[in-house]
Amino acid sequence: MSRLASTRLKIYRTVARQLHGLVPCWVCGLHVPPEASTLEHIRPLSEGGNSHQDNLAISHAACNQQRHAVQARAA
Ligand SMILES: [Zn+2]
Repeated sequence: MSRLASTRLKIYRTVARQLHGLVPCWVCGLHVPPEASTLEHIRPLSEGGNSHQDNLAISHAACNQQRHAVQARAA
C-alpha cells in the first residue's frame, strides 16, 4: 500500500469516527463510500499546497477528477 493510500484510509477512518460513519465529499458534500474515496488537496500542489494531513480531504473520485478538469479549463 502506498503512503498516500494509507493516509487516505487514516483520514477516512478519522472522519467516519467523528461523524458516526458519515464521510462527506469535500467537493459535493454527499457521503463517500470507502471504495469511491480519493484524497483531494484542499490547496493544490501547484499553488504551494502540501500533502500533509491538514491539507487533504476525502472526495469522490469522480468529483476530484471533475474539479481538476474545471481548473484545467480555467487555466
Ligand atoms: Zn462528491
